Amino acid sequence: MSNRVTRREFVATGVAAGMVAAATPLFSEAPSVVVPKAPRPVVISSANGNRYKNGGPRTCVEEAFERIVRGEDVLDALIAGVNILELDPEEDGVGFGGLPNADGVVQLDSSCMHGPKRRAGAVAALEGVRTPSLVAKAVMELTDHHLLVGEGAQSFARNLGFKIEDDLNTEHSRKLWLEWKRRTDPKHYLDPVERAAAGYRAGLEMVAEGLIDAQHFWGTINCDGVNAKGDLCGVTTTSGLAWKIAGRVGDSPILGAGLYVDNDVGAAGSTGRGEANLYNVASYLIVENLRRGLHPKDAGIDALRRIKANTVEKRLLNSRGNPDFGLTFYILSKSGEYAGVSMYNAYEGKLAQFAVCTDKGPETLQCEGLLGEAPAE
Ligand code: ASP
Repeated sequence: MSNRVTRREFVATGVAAGMVAAATPLFSEAPSVVVPKAPRPVVISSANGNRYKNGGPRTCVEEAFERIVRGEDVLDALIAGVNILELDPEEDGVGFGGLPNADGVVQLDSSCMHGPKRRAGAVAALEGVRTPSLVAKAVMELTDHHLLVGEGAQSFARNLGFKIEDDLNTEHSRKLWLEWKRRTDPKHYLDPVERAAAGYRAGLEMVAEGLIDAQHFWGTINCDGVNAKGDLCGVTTTSGLAWKIAGRVGDSPILGAGLYVDNDVGAAGSTGRGEANLYNVASYLIVENLRRGLHPKDAGIDALRRIKANTVEKRLLNSRGNPDFGLTFYILSKSGEYAGVSMYNAYEGKLAQFAVCTDKGPETLQCEGLLGEAPAE
């Protein structure tokens, strides 16, 4: 990633000062010069990465940052961070206790990407393993493949010694599922189209009533990091859309959508409506925007604009004709510049936020929204 500075700053910082032609007047309004900025360690994630500790001393971003600074492999550090959320029964959008699908079964998706090794791995619709991110990493390291799904992913995990559990529901996630069932299936199933629409409506109602955190209806963690050498990695892990049709896979395990890393340029990942992201392969688009020299914020806002323009189906639009869903990207450049960008500044009454950890410590910050606050409808 590069940094634009004026010629005056270029000279003042002494960077390659000898390269400046003697004939160039030092204080003229000269065009920008692009110089590489030294990388600095940074970890960025969705806001839940600075919320849950699973009874331990640190949040995800703190844990990952500390490990990166200690010299641990960046991907190992990030995965140790997201494991905190995967194992936390109170985080009901990720791993153990994630909200189940329409059949009451917790199915998990995850992907990871190692920038320097230029390798990636993923699992989708995986049942019975609390830490799908570790299985995604095993796919990356131990197979010639990228993505294992369903029973195949589970038997791969079993063969590697991962504990397979019958049920990853907690009392809490099961109770919410039963409530959703009660609302959507009063007289047994309606026709499938009606039923899917009713299911989605009931889920949103439960968000509006405060039974489910909006972030958990979609709930995921994406976490990306860079070390002082500029090595970039990323991981995304999720229980996906709450009450989804069994077998539905969102953007999280799909490279270019829920996650993309290019070690020369930067990393991006997402949370929110996976289908809208998949249609636009937006994490890839964002990384390509970084390659063109855009700041992470501009790179992300450009992708959100594309997604907005490609959202034309009436059922996905609100009364103002804008996308009727939340979607957020977490973006990190090779030099450690970062941004959280979101379709809305606030969605379902909640501010769009992201988490970051630098040498200043962990922070939860406001995302840059393409649109203002989503209208309550
Ligand atoms: N993007 C995830 C999915 O579509 C869900 C989320 O991030 O909330 O499965």
